[in-house]
Amino acid sequence: MEKIQNYINGVFLAPKKNVYFDNIEPATGKAYCQIPNSDDADVELAVNSAKEAFPSWSGMSNELRSDWMMKLAEGIEARMDEFVSAESRDNGKPIKLAAHIDIPRAVSNFKFFATGIVHYSSESHLMHGVGVNYTLRKPIGVVGCISPWNLPLYLFSWKIAPAMAAGNCVVAKPSEVTPYTAYILCKVMEEINFPKGVLNIVHGYGQNAGDAIVRHPLTKAISFTGGTTTGKAIASIAAPMFKKLSLELGGKNPNIIFDDCDFDEMLSTTMRSSFANQGQICLCGSRIFVQRGIYEKFKTAFVEKVRKANVSFPTDPEAHLGAVVSRPHMEKVLSYIELAKEEGGIVLAGGHQVFLDAPYNNGFYIAPTVIEGLDYMCRTNQEEIFGPVVTLTPFDSEEDALRMANSTEYGLSATIWTRDLQRAHRMADQVQAGIVWLNSWLVRDLRTPFGGVKSSGVGREGGWEALRFFTEAKNVFVKY
Ligand code: NAD
Repeated sequence: MEKIQNYINGVFLAPKKNVYFDNIEPATGKAYCQIPNSDDADVELAVNSAKEAFPSWSGMSNELRSDWMMKLAEGIEARMDEFVSAESRDNGKPIKLAAHIDIPRAVSNFKFFATGIVHYSSESHLMHGVGVNYTLRKPIGVVGCISPWNLPLYLFSWKIAPAMAAGNCVVAKPSEVTPYTAYILCKVMEEINFPKGVLNIVHGYGQNAGDAIVRHPLTKAISFTGGTTTGKAIASIAAPMFKKLSLELGGKNPNIIFDDCDFDEMLSTTMRSSFANQGQICLCGSRIFVQRGIYEKFKTAFVEKVRKANVSFPTDPEAHLGAVVSRPHMEKVLSYIELAKEEGGIVLAGGHQVFLDAPYNNGFYIAPTVIEGLDYMCRTNQEEIFGPVVTLTPFDSEEDALRMANSTEYGLSATIWTRDLQRAHRMADQVQAGIVWLNSWLVRDLRTPFGGVKSSGVGREGGWEALRFFTEAKNVFVKY
């Protein structure tokens, strides 16, 4: 079976202890390659390699660094089909999703920060008659980037691209559940002769390789995307070491539908915001609040559409939903459906595992699930499920909707559907979320701040926010 390798100082390396574990294909439930079980010894090598590379990479002109980043983007484009198939196979997502969203977006991330860095500038503050302050934005040094499995290369590149563009050298760990596209990225680096040691990729479990990246005294900033519990554990290690921290964590996002919305557009977008990527997008609207006047109409139309959604193997061009990412994750999602029933929920659609014919008969498939009749404070409505499961809850007034929407510990994103302009802005102002979509969902401009409030995270990614995170400000005052 193929063995994925770490990529350290421009060389493919086996983990020092030579221990591997299986990478399971969600579509079939079968192992198809092996992943290094790296630990602190491998991370030590990677950090040293990044440290060695830092003076020349950070000393390079922004234009030259930009050129290298563009070459990385072009290298992915040149292997587009390979990346697309690998992402779909590793994650279980429909291949058309990987082709239209994941891999093109990874390319855009590299291009965006490659061009961003040549337009980035620092500030100066004039003190009339006294002098002037100018602020330098210097790269931090060696930084750690740790990413999750739901949008593997997309979220991995969202971190490593600004980190490198700003002049840092990186030790990065993709999710052990979906490591493959990060591995192909290493092949691209080798092909284009990307400067050695600038990006070091170490594979393995979070508690071994991830933890070692966070603990290493030389990783001066940690950019993490993943679950809130993991974020807490990382913060408890990194904060006393005074590392810079960017934490993009879980969500339990409200989708608030007023009865004056554009019904058809809302309905088709709500299908996507509920079930895209099998509901495994941190921005999915898993709690659907519908104004009472259209509750029954919405319920009937939505449930009809959901029942027709095609759950199939990822390479099926007709698949609306593919496999969820792993057996433990499938079991977690199914256990939440059982919990919802115990809490008094009524399953209107789905609610069960889906069994496909061989060779997909051991794959991890769940029917898109709609549940109503739950209290907004119950566990099903408060805890992140991160799968193809949504709940429906009616509301009467704006206050009613806001109280329920803001009731969870999370605050990542919110979607609001209404044609009333004033209400839309009022709601956007008061909903507790870092990202709000009015009459839309997942429209992304890479220049905008991305991140959540409350237990959904600390800090913002995207645009200048990311470049600010990956640089240290140094203010210099010059007296007249
Ligand atoms: P996870 O927290 O289990 O793992 C994320 C990454 O952290 C993986 O690479 C993992 O190996 C690593 N890790 C785990 N334990 C670690 C430790 N102790 N120290 C260092 N690294 C460690 O999350 P997941 O299951 O891969 O992803 C799903 C979660 O990610 C969901 O909660 C989802 O909402 C969240 N997510 C958030 C965003 C966002 O932008 N806010 C985006 C996507 C996913």
